[in-house]
Amino acid sequence: MVVVMKATATEDDIEHLEEKVREAGGEAFVSRGKSRTIIGLVGDTARFTGMPIQTYQGVDHVILIGKPYKMVARELHPVPTTVKVGPAAVGRESFSVIAGPCAVESEEQAMRAARAAVDAGATILRGGAYKPRTSPYSFQGLGQRGLEILAECRAETGLPVVTEVIESRDVEHVAEVADCLQIGTRNMQNFALLKEVGQTQKPVLLKRGLSATVEEWLMAAEYIAQRGNSEIILCERGIRTFETATRNTLDLAGMVVAQNESHLPVIVDPSHATGQHELVAPMARAALAAGADGVMLDVHHAPTEALCDGAQALTPEELATLGEDLTTLAGALDRRV
Ligand code: PEP
Ligand code: MN
Repeated sequence: MVVVMKATATEDDIEHLEEKVREAGGEAFVSRGKSRTIIGLVGDTARFTGMPIQTYQGVDHVILIGKPYKMVARELHPVPTTVKVGPAAVGRESFSVIAGPCAVESEEQAMRAARAAVDAGATILRGGAYKPRTSPYSFQGLGQRGLEILAECRAETGLPVVTEVIESRDVEHVAEVADCLQIGTRNMQNFALLKEVGQTQKPVLLKRGLSATVEEWLMAAEYIAQRGNSEIILCERGIRTFETATRNTLDLAGMVVAQNESHLPVIVDPSHATGQHELVAPMARAALAAGADGVMLDVHHAPTEALCDGAQALTPEELATLGEDLTTLAGALDRRV
């Protein structure tokens, strides 16, 4: 951390800062310029970030040198992490396809989606039992029954299951069924929930908040890692912008920034990012071309009858075609699905 003093700062101001830094167990290196003094602080930066240095007399501004996240940062962990979800692996080695219904609606609907996922080459089944809906009047998910159906789909297809948990009190029982716990965009900064999933042994799929910067997203991941669970998959799912032509704006550059900044795998959800089924395949191919570690796709046998997000769901046939296209594209890029 570097503290830039005001041109009007006095020797007393500098000494006061030095003393405070010493009290916190650090060292201050003072560099006196012609008109300004800058002070480099060395030591455990976590201690300094908690100090109100900005408010000290004579201080102009403070510059942070280190990252506000450590455990998820690539800086200290240059090798990319692969996260195991049941028998599947999400990471650099292969491009993962995760597919399934937005919401589990019935045994028949979920099973058809699960079979479509297998047929398209997916290695993980997605499906919401607890749904975080914007409107309280919308379908809220089947809850416990939805989890049971997901377990039946896993038994039938062999695919491990990722499903969302929306409340801290549900973490334990959702974790009993899920192979991976999803934290949705609306809960990315629900710190109590992040800490709770950080205490489980289950991998976590952390979606980017719809108005979150990449840095905030990585700090949310840091909350989980700090509790002892570093098995985290990041998921870019579109952010809110001025544009209304798509549901959200898919931030593929942000996905690459997250990959460069962090050792965690980063996947893309083109279904929630675009909200329109005809945009899903082009954005899934773009995600692969841009170097994402996988995609997560909504599928429904009858999208016009879906209880949740039908407009963005692919039919099983469309999903199969996309699966083939991704395999071809991956080959051309020297990767595999
Ligand atoms: C979902 O994946 O089912 C979902 C609700 O996504 P998001 O949190 O990205 O809106
Ligand atoms: Mn959805």
